[in-house]
Amino acid sequence: MKIPQDRLNRYVGMRRDFAEEEYINLQPIQRGGILTEEARRAILEFGDGYSTCDWCPPKTARLDMITDPPIQQFYQDLAEFLGMDVARVVTRCREAKFIAFRMLGGAGDYVVLDSTAHYSSYIAAELAELRVKEVPNSGPPEYRVDLEAYAAKIDEVKKETGKLPAALLLTHIDYLYGNLNDAKVVAKIAKECKVPYILNCAYSAGIMPINGKELGADVLTSSGHKSWAASAPTGILAFNKSLEEKFTARSKMEGDLTKRKFGAKELAMLGCTVMGAPLITLMASFPEVVKRVERWGEEVEKVRYLVAELERIEGIKQMGMRPKMHTLTHMETESFYKVSETHKRKGYFLYDELRSRKIVGIQPGLTKHFKLNTYGLTWDQIRYVRDAFFEIAKKYGLKIS
Ligand SMILES: *Cc1c(COP(=O)(O)O)cnc(C)c1O
Repeated sequence: MKIPQDRLNRYVGMRRDFAEEEYINLQPIQRGGILTEEARRAILEFGDGYSTCDWCPPKTARLDMITDPPIQQFYQDLAEFLGMDVARVVTRCREAKFIAFRMLGGAGDYVVLDSTAHYSSYIAAELAELRVKEVPNSGPPEYRVDLEAYAAKIDEVKKETGKLPAALLLTHIDYLYGNLNDAKVVAKIAKECKVPYILNCAYSAGIMPINGKELGADVLTSSGHKSWAASAPTGILAFNKSLEEKFTARSKMEGDLTKRKFGAKELAMLGCTVMGAPLITLMASFPEVVKRVERWGEEVEKVRYLVAELERIEGIKQMGMRPKMHTLTHMETESFYKVSETHKRKGYFLYDELRSRKIVGIQPGLTKHFKLNTYGLTWDQIRYVRDAFFEIAKKYGLKIS
């Protein structure tokens, strides 16, 4: 079929609406994925298809064996940086979770997870044909996960099925409120009950210091495009020696006619994973990522400052646990909602007002509550965001204490 030229023309000279240089972008999922200069250069160099595969070793023929570019070394450094034994780069955090679920469980098994888990945790479990048992949270305003309740949920699963769950999964930083869950509490339960423990660090590893061994994780998952200054799709699956055999098991498939076998290929990785530019961006940003996690303390200072300032506006309140331990923040903004009810742009007024001040990333149409992420903003930008909110509040007659 012939595609009309005017439709093809739309793919020429595509531009992004929110250039990083022009706007302050508060979009929670985007702050940790902004590329470093080095990654920007690398993406040009390695943009072609299978660009990582020039020197694929013929015998082992596997991405993680390539030494130029230094992918093999990178996997080792990545594991070491995370305090885990083995690491693999996969396409996304959700794929890392899927692989872990698939290799740890069988159809009908349970995974016990926190009730603030990301949708992709549920879907990864579903595709792996597992069932979920949710650990409750306290609800508003803190939404604190009852970590001790993992033990009771394991018992529930045992009563129901006569066996242990396939895995426990804890979301280290939840995507809704930015709450930090104490990974060690669940690690202790996992160890006592002898259930493999997956710590989902999509919003933590790559921006804050993480040591999987110290936190007691058997498996650690993360997202390169969310938290490692890398292009999508990139994800990280790291695990400990005890699971290495399971997770890196080789293919046993044999062609019934040809008798061909693929015994060098890791089954769960489908042979090779990210074989081009996205992996290279992850590697190119790694030296900066290693440094930036050491500056996490200041990132937390900045978000606490902004939250305290924004809460001076009447009817604005931070949701989730206090004080903030992460830069992802959920604000309840009852007073902006009241303004929206009589505004001709309704819920879009706040978006318009922010955008006219070169601030984007607050979901259009939302005024009752919204999320923002201050990760990587300078102090000047933090103050600029505060001033913008103050201006908007004043314009609509809201009090600032
Ligand atoms: C963003 C997020 C994910 C999804 O990451 P992908 O790499 O896009 O799959 C998974 N879990 C949590 C907790 C997240 O915040």
